[in-house]
Amino acid sequence: MSSVSTKEFKYVSYLWDDEKAAALATNEVDLLIYRSNLLGADLRLTNYGGGNTSCKTVERDPLTGEEAEVMWIKGSGGDLGTLKRSGLAALYVDRLRSMKNVYRGIDHEDEMVALYNNCIFDFDSKAPSIDTALHGFLPFKHIDHLHPDAVIAIAAAKDGKAIAKELFKGKIGWVEWQRPGFDLGLKLRQCLDENPGINGIILGSHGLFTWGDTAYESYLNTLEVIERSSEYLASAMKGKKAFGGPRMVSPDREERLKKAAAIAPALRGLCSAQVKMIGHFTDDERVLEFINSHDLDRLAPLGTSCPDHFLRTKISPLVLDPVAIENVEAGALREKLLPLFEEYRKMYAEYYESCKEPNSPPMRDPNPVVILYPGVGMFSFAKDKQTARVASEFYINAINVMKGAEAISEYTSLPRKEAFDIEYWLLEEAKLQRMPKPKTLSGHIALITGSAGGIGKAIAKKMADSGACVIINDNDPGRLEKGKADFQRQYGKDVFIAEPLDVTDAATISRAFDSAALAFGGVDIVVNCAGLSISKPLEEHTEKDWDILYDVLVKGQFLVTQAAVKTMRIQDTGGDIINIVSKNALVSGPNNAAYGSAKAAQLHLSRLNAAELGKDRIRVNVVNPDAVIADSKIWEGDWAKGRAAAYGVKVEDLPAYYAKRTLLNEIILPEDIANACLVFVGGLMNKSTGNVLNVDGGVAMAFVR
Ligand SMILES: [Zn+2]
Repeated sequence: MSSVSTKEFKYVSYLWDDEKAAALATNEVDLLIYRSNLLGADLRLTNYGGGNTSCKTVERDPLTGEEAEVMWIKGSGGDLGTLKRSGLAALYVDRLRSMKNVYRGIDHEDEMVALYNNCIFDFDSKAPSIDTALHGFLPFKHIDHLHPDAVIAIAAAKDGKAIAKELFKGKIGWVEWQRPGFDLGLKLRQCLDENPGINGIILGSHGLFTWGDTAYESYLNTLEVIERSSEYLASAMKGKKAFGGPRMVSPDREERLKKAAAIAPALRGLCSAQVKMIGHFTDDERVLEFINSHDLDRLAPLGTSCPDHFLRTKISPLVLDPVAIENVEAGALREKLLPLFEEYRKMYAEYYESCKEPNSPPMRDPNPVVILYPGVGMFSFAKDKQTARVASEFYINAINVMKGAEAISEYTSLPRKEAFDIEYWLLEEAKLQRMPKPKTLSGHIALITGSAGGIGKAIAKKMADSGACVIINDNDPGRLEKGKADFQRQYGKDVFIAEPLDVTDAATISRAFDSAALAFGGVDIVVNCAGLSISKPLEEHTEKDWDILYDVLVKGQFLVTQAAVKTMRIQDTGGDIINIVSKNALVSGPNNAAYGSAKAAQLHLSRLNAAELGKDRIRVNVVNPDAVIADSKIWEGDWAKGRAAAYGVKVEDLPAYYAKRTLLNEIILPEDIANACLVFVGGLMNKSTGNVLNVDGGVAMAFVR
């Protein structure tokens, strides 16, 4: 093994910092975490959440006071890149190895998992993972188990074993594919015993084990094996056309995105037949190379190889026929695609039926996770954005593996029964059962107009807190930037997008809905909240005042609803439209001719829309706020002054004035309006449309008649 402290690598990132490592050198566990974070930082070394690392130390046993060998290993779940001490499990090595004495054979290996708890040394341990035995039976102090695309390409090649032997001159062992578990741990040990002096082991169709006496030696060994594999693949690919070369050329990016945005709601609707799904789209060049290639039709149905890949992407992707959908109207896409989905669901059900065991969990959602649209890109659908995005990343890993394996030999996927045994593994099912319950709006997408601040922002945050993905927007770029920064801080990238939107401009509305389709797959909830107010006596009202109020409030609500309905109809999963109107739609007061009548128009338009859209299962409801003062654009400028003058009070006394004239004597806050919106979309009011909910502290004059 090399002892150099810096090294040139071309295909992997050498990130080891001697100074940082020296500062940790007194503690092997800290070094393990340091090494793990470096390995996890380079996606060429392992996929997100994939692989695990370990080290073995000598500790004082608190019970006996004697020295004991302890293995520290990444626990179940989590990612190497962000691994912390709390993500580790610590187990007595001798106890772990003595489990061999009670092992009843491969048909009973799952019962060994519970016994790992009897080996726990550190009670702060995370649950030991299924890979615990794989590290435990190897004698090395430091061990890395990774899923590098470059090594899996060899591991999934038809004659991978011979290639590995030749490439590593016999210094890397080979263990045929076997589902990870206690037995595979014994097989790794057997491989080492039969091949003393090897530096690592390739697991067929799965990944790599490498090791060293120190954290650094293990790190370097791991990097060298992956670098060598990558180098070998690169030279094999030189001058060769990947995947048999292209059979079609993609249109330019603008056109691709247009096509993707047009089809996304139809795909999302079909994928959401059982549970509402969130989408992700990419036209990454590695994806385009694959989906535009000659070999797509041969390779895609084979499915993926590394268990991590297919657990996230399902047994195989759905491939669209770009010619069949070339000139289909957006409204007719869903119907056109339905037979393809029915075929996929049938294929999945057959896979389940042919592989199931008497004690298998019931069949899961038979809809595809990954959808390939030749020429355009790849969609993925999952219960939330992060899961959909990660599925997309995993399929890119799978594409890399297929590309490498095909370059050096022939790609082989896992046999379907093996894939099934992983997908429907009772231990995997138990993990799913332990997952937290989805939130109220999980899988939903909400667009709230004017949501960079004020009531709109409060509604958007309420929806996001309840599990929805949101499209925040504003016609004021400065306000939108501020709102975006606020959402980024609070929610991170997978929960929202920020789009410029002027409700009076059909083109910006259409662009915002396209962006929603690309980012999340469509839209389920639209809240018309953008607004402004002008309060003037009749004789002072200008035509301009009148026009802008009617443009923003009435035409705005009309145009945004029209665009929303277009998307919702393509999805065919119903939807919710909530219009934030006002008490002024119901109550007549002075100095309010334009605003009050526009609000009344919004209210009646809502009822008209409710009457028209019931057949599409699109509900249209109204929330009537009154006098929401905090953080509202309405209260900037002359409106407050105008209202104060109309009521004969000072501006600063307005909130108290408004509160006093209500039955409950309450000041109304943006959160109160947001709560009312949630009432309509939270699932308990699914049989209500055309309704009005006043949130005004109780104003008898505004009671709905
Ligand atoms: Zn693995």
